Amino acid sequence: MKLTLKIKLLPDNIQFDLLKNTIIEANNACNEISDIAFSKKIFNQFKLHKETYYVIRNKFNLSAQMVARCLSKVADSYKLDKKIKRVFRPLGSISYDSRILSYSANNTISIWTVGGRIKGLPFVCHNPKYLPYIKGEADLVFKKGKFYLFQTVEIPEEDVKDIEEFIGVDFGQTDIAVLSDGTNYNSETLKKVRKKYSKVRASIQSKGTKGSKKLLKRLSGREKRFVSINNHTISKQIVAKAKAENKGIAIEDLTNIRKTAKCKSKAQKTELNRWSFYQLRQFLAYKCTLNGVKLVLIPPAYTSQTCNFCNHIGIRNGKRFKCENCGNIADADHNAANNIAAWGVSVNTPEKSTMYCSFHI
Ligand SMILES: [Zn+2]
Repeated sequence: MKLTLKIKLLPDNIQFDLLKNTIIEANNACNEISDIAFSKKIFNQFKLHKETYYVIRNKFNLSAQMVARCLSKVADSYKLDKKIKRVFRPLGSISYDSRILSYSANNTISIWTVGGRIKGLPFVCHNPKYLPYIKGEADLVFKKGKFYLFQTVEIPEEDVKDIEEFIGVDFGQTDIAVLSDGTNYNSETLKKVRKKYSKVRASIQSKGTKGSKKLLKRLSGREKRFVSINNHTISKQIVAKAKAENKGIAIEDLTNIRKTAKCKSKAQKTELNRWSFYQLRQFLAYKCTLNGVKLVLIPPAYTSQTCNFCNHIGIRNGKRFKCENCGNIADADHNAANNIAAWGVSVNTPEKSTMYCSFHI
């Protein structure tokens, strides 16, 4: 499967200027190409290449391959809409392929710039285990005074094993996630951190100074990073558990999230909550694929209201679930996770389904 690896470059002052000038030069060329494309209504990459290649090579200090990358960037930008002329920011990201960027075993790269190739440029990467799987293009990105490569990697997936049982995962009604075996990933630490941020935010907002908008933006970035790390940890643990127990993972199918938005609204009332919730699902999905763990999506209807013992519709009240048919009283999220796990088996092997009938009650 394809993932994007974030690689931080560590250039010295001279290399820093070379990288920056390269980005500026390439974006200038993109704007020139875009001018021609828009005025002559040529949007096809091959035709655009024919029309502009020599003009661009003569006017800009760019290698043949870099011009090709620029042409591709411009052609791509017009794919969805040809009515508005595309303008590229001077420091917007530019793309590299293996002909103008290569990696060495000692964590350095060789990269083409307007001043020639920089060789032995050091970098750091948080996921070095993925470095051997580098394949395809990378974007050179200048962000907050630092250079990064967002490099595509293609990681071999493990074969999905045949399994019979599922771990049901219920997301974020009162906790971040509850598993059908009762494991609870609560949000206490997360809540504390977010409370702290919301206090700081309120005090900044009340001052209403010029710099406050910038500061608020930086705060939300930090908060998001904290949530991300948390989501990585949780999804990693759930997938590792499923793999160790030779089970699959079942989650609710929220393709039609709008229909279920009402019953989910409590825990996901803030934008960050919704963002975090989707991110956790995405992390879980890609980690399943990487590790050969089967992931099934089950219809979300009734999972939080159906009794896990007798399949009757019960009453959910906050964290408590009560079934008036059989007297079952349970943690509401745990009951939901059990339903999701049972549904997982139904979806995986339809002949074992015991839950369809309950929906007609
Ligand atoms: Zn019951």
